[in-house]
Amino acid sequence: MVTCYSNVFSFKILPKIMFKKSLVYAVFAVLLFQTAVVKAQEYKTENIILITLDGLRWQEVFKGADSLMVDDTGMIETPGSLLPDFWNEDPLQRREMLMPFFWNTLAKEGQIYGNRAYGNKVDNSNKMWFSYPGYNEVLSGFADDERITSNSKINNPNVTFLEYLNQKPAYKGKVLAFGSWDVFPYIVNEKRSGVPVNAGFDSAEGTDLSPEELLTNKMQSEIRGPWGGVRLDVFTQNYAMAALKNKKPKALYISYGETDDWAHDNQYDQYIWSAKQTDAYIKEIWDFVQSDPQYKDKTTMIITTDHGRGITKTSWRDHGSSVPEGGEIWMAAIGPDTPARGEMKVQGQWQSAMIARTIFQLLGMEYPDAKAGKMIEEMVK
Ligand SMILES: [Zn+2]
Repeated sequence: MVTCYSNVFSFKILPKIMFKKSLVYAVFAVLLFQTAVVKAQEYKTENIILITLDGLRWQEVFKGADSLMVDDTGMIETPGSLLPDFWNEDPLQRREMLMPFFWNTLAKEGQIYGNRAYGNKVDNSNKMWFSYPGYNEVLSGFADDERITSNSKINNPNVTFLEYLNQKPAYKGKVLAFGSWDVFPYIVNEKRSGVPVNAGFDSAEGTDLSPEELLTNKMQSEIRGPWGGVRLDVFTQNYAMAALKNKKPKALYISYGETDDWAHDNQYDQYIWSAKQTDAYIKEIWDFVQSDPQYKDKTTMIITTDHGRGITKTSWRDHGSSVPEGGEIWMAAIGPDTPARGEMKVQGQWQSAMIARTIFQLLGMEYPDAKAGKMIEEMVK
């Protein structure tokens, strides 16, 4: 791993007159040695799990249920229904009620970025502030406001980190993606990348399906859910969990969709329940990871969102470039190479474009696309 420089230190036995010159050599050798150590630093991360929650606001992540909406009868079906489980005057209590895995586990063992109260800012670098541009940015490492201008089912011209990984012999066939939204096969460019994407209302396919997958297929065909292009996240979760257990991917991407759709529907109660359930899904994944020999202490999980949304009683439903807060987002990470700094309180600016290069760094590789954002130094030891 590190070249041996011990021969350089033989200056100890040289005559005194050579001492000064040798000292210069020795200092030079030490510098070389340090460079070699930095370059050869090996990370413990062997597997990557990337998770996104569509359009979940940083405001809920860091402050819990919003006082403006939590009991507004225009946005919740039954008055008072959210209060026992989600309301407390103290936002630190509220956020833990809403996302217990985030605030009990990630806040102690990982990192959570994006609390703007501390000047800790995470933003989209794209200026579109809706889903396809947001996911393209996270997955490929850069904004492409020239070409990614709609949510249409158009194959992504950009190569995502999933595709780059799938090109490498060590990862080929071990990269899987699951999403609730039926545009993901295009965002990941399933056709070109060869990365299998189970999204929208796709069933699990194959001759070796597990009992869980067969049951999930059956239930998905029976429960339509409220939206045309987005399935309920329970199906995405169960397909992803089954694959994690049985197919053992080295890179797994899971995209949950409900939070965005409930928000567009102006149903704050459903949005809050969904955020809490998704937090529980992420805990289920992490608990499995830390119980399995292939994954335990060798897996980094990064969690983020594709865009922000507005802050008023009407604009919270929406996002896009006309909503001033639409580009304000958050991100989190946990893994063997990520220092346990919890809620990040240092001032700074991060972008979702930085995630792809960070993932490659954790896997010990240079990200092949120069256009990608720089790596998140604080996330990597
Ligand atoms: Zn949306």
